[in-house]
Formats: sequence, structure tokens, C-alpha cells
Amino acid sequence: MMKTISILGSTGSIGTQALSVIEEMAGSFQVLSLSCGKNIRLLGEQIRKFHPKFVSVEDAGDAKTLAEEFADWDLEVSYGMDGLLAAAQMGADIVLTAVVGMVGIRPTIAAIEKGSDIALANKETMVCAGHIIQPMAREKGVKILPVDSEHSAIFQCLQGNADADIKRILLTASGGPFRGKSYEELEQVKVADALKHPNWNMGRKITIDSATMVNKGLEVMEARWLFDVLPNRIQVVVHPESIIHSAMEFADGAVMAQMGLPDMRLPIHYALCYPERGELSGEPLDLFSIGALHFEHPDLETFFGLQLAFDALLAGGNVPVVYNAANEAAVALFLGEKIAFTRIPELIMEAMSEVEFIQNPGVDEILHTEQLARAFVAEAVEEVL
Ligand code: NDP
Repeated sequence: MMKTISILGSTGSIGTQALSVIEEMAGSFQVLSLSCGKNIRLLGEQIRKFHPKFVSVEDAGDAKTLAEEFADWDLEVSYGMDGLLAAAQMGADIVLTAVVGMVGIRPTIAAIEKGSDIALANKETMVCAGHIIQPMAREKGVKILPVDSEHSAIFQCLQGNADADIKRILLTASGGPFRGKSYEELEQVKVADALKHPNWNMGRKITIDSATMVNKGLEVMEARWLFDVLPNRIQVVVHPESIIHSAMEFADGAVMAQMGLPDMRLPIHYALCYPERGELSGEPLDLFSIGALHFEHPDLETFFGLQLAFDALLAGGNVPVVYNAANEAAVALFLGEKIAFTRIPELIMEAMSEVEFIQNPGVDEILHTEQLARAFVAEAVEEVL
């Protein structure tokens, strides 16, 4: 049966791979809406290929350019947060949230309110607003289908075991490009080095997050909400080959893992087709050529951004929001070559102790906390520049 889909962040790494999956599954999906930030050239190509009814971009000027280009088409063009919300609220069977950062929170909530299932790539949303989103999704009978490869792996391991007791989640991590390096070595890291991930080809922000291991921290928080597990039941396991995408230990001691080559099209495909498991092109996993798999404890002292995520989860309230927003601000500064690599976790830690605590933040308080954390980072960096 054909499903309708809306994609938020269609020009990004996840968005383009999702469209390539949809193209491969011709006749299975009808694209209702697409949205992006600034890449209107690529969005234009996507409009010509997938014929959405509605698109949204970040700026009014870009929206005007697109509206002129597609004046003869049956296409509505919008912009800004209102446009993004409207793109999310087309009433599609499934909304893929693949924007980067906290900008994803409101549209994800809007899509749930409309009753669409969510294919969730935008982990920042679950980190900051999981306490709002999960009960809302349950109330609306909406499925949250993880796209992040680790969470997809856990979700796949849970099939047929939904009511079983989860003893532990074994959340695997490649360790990123700086695995094994000392803190002193990390101080010298350049942007180009941090953008070279050993196994995954991803957007710039998440690639830096992988290098600091803050990405794994965000994933720990995402897992806490997606699977309703306490942080002490989540064990991060460094697994440099990125073949086991994560594993689940059940109460009887059985451990189930999902394996595959590092290719995001697979978890995207699973989320879009769930509960079916259709065919997908790609290189098969050849265990003989891989030969051996390795596992290590994470180095929580050198990569203390990961430890801070556990601290933020334990503190609760708006602290995960501070963690995430301070990280977004710090990563942007690092990418702009304004701060050193090791300043990223330091700024997160400082923001976590400085921004005022709120116990059970609503959406407005989450967005206000974001502003406070961003302002804190900007000021802290300004002082030393
Ligand atoms: P990219 O940076 O590649 O893409 C981000 C997308 O969001 C682009 O389409 C971008 O548009 C759009 N966007 C950015 N800002 C806005 C805005 N203000 N309004 C509307 N759209 C906006 O990111 P990724 O695809 O790598 O990551 C997306 C999400 O998925 C992140 O939350 C990430 O953590 C998560 N994720 C990514 C994985 C990956 O392999 N890439 C793996 C697992 C999770 P434009 O480019 O046109 O400006």
C-alpha cells in the first residue's frame, strides 16, 4: 500500500538518503511536503523529481525565488518556522524529521498532534523534549520509529520482545576519528581532522559530535526516552568496526544484536517501511572479510562530553536541554574556527552548572533554556577572544 510522507530536512545527509530509498521503492511512497534550510538549488531538483504539494525553506527571499521558479506548478511555497510547521502538518502517514538541531522540536510535536507517525532522525528533539513527546505520542497512538542506526538496532531487537524486561542496552560507538588519543592531543585538533569520520559519512554537526563523543551522549539520552530505560541500564561499548549497531540484553541473559555495514539507508528504510521489511540494494555484510569485531570501554575522562550526558540525565529537568544547546552553540564556534576542539565539552559543562534549573520544562521553557545556554556560551567565548 502506498504511504504518504513529509520530509523535514530533505537536503541534508539523512534527507537525501531517504529520498534515494524512496526513489528505489518506486510506487511505495507519495511525497507530500519537503523542507530545508538554504539549499534551494537541491530542493528545486527534489521538487522536479518527487512532485511535493508543499515546500518550505528558511528565508522569505529563497521562498520567493522558488515560488517564481515553480509558478506553473501545483506547489505551495512557504518559509520560516510557520512553513516548517505547515510542512509537518500535512497529515502524512509518516513524517521524517531530519533537520539538524533543536529547530526540530516544534514541527515534531506538530506532526504528532496531527496523528502522523514519526521517523525520528532529529535526536536533539528527543533529548530536549522526550518527556513531552513520548506521552503525547502514546496518547495520539502515534509511532516513533527511530532512524538513528543504534536506536533502530535496539528497536529491531525489540520486535517480538516488546513486553520482555530490558536488562541493559549495549549502545555501540565507533569511538570517532580520535579514539585512543590523549586530551593533550585533542587540544591540537583542527576542523578538517574532526570532520573525517572513520566509518560514517554524515552532516557536519553530527560528525563533530561523533568526534567529541557528545553524539553518543545525545544517543544515551535519546535511548532513555525512546525505550523508557534508566541511564544505569545503558552501557556504551566502543566498537570500532561499526558492524554491530547496538545490542539488547534481556532479563534471561540473552543478548540480541543487529548487524550490518555502516549505511544509513538501512535504518531509514526500516523506519519508513515498518512493520514490513522490504528489499533494499546495497553491499551485503561479509563476515569473512571483516574477520574480527572488537569492543572497548569508552574513555570517559578524555571524552568527558559523554560522561556529562549521563550527569545531565541524572540531573533531569532542563539540564539535557542545556547540554544540547550549549553543544550546538559550541560546535558552530568550533566549525567557525573560533574555539579549540576541547572547549566544546568544557563549555557544555560550564553551561550545565550556570543555567537556571527548571524541573519539568514545557516547550516554551525548553526554547528559553536554549536561548540562555546559547547566550552563556557566546558570552563565555567573547570574554576570552
Ligand atoms: P545535515 O546538516 O546534513 O542536514 C540538515 C538538514 O536540516 C538540511 O536539509 C538543512 O537544510 C535542514 N535545516 C537546517 N536548518 C534548518 C532550518 N532552520 N529550517 C529548516 N531546515 C533546516 O544533517 P544530518 O542529515 O546529518 O542530520 C540530521 C539529523 O539527523 C540530526 O539531528 C542528526 O543528529 C541526525 N542523524 C544523522 C545521521 C547521519 O548519518 N547524518 C545519523 C543519525 C542521526 P539546508 O542544508 O538546505 O540548509
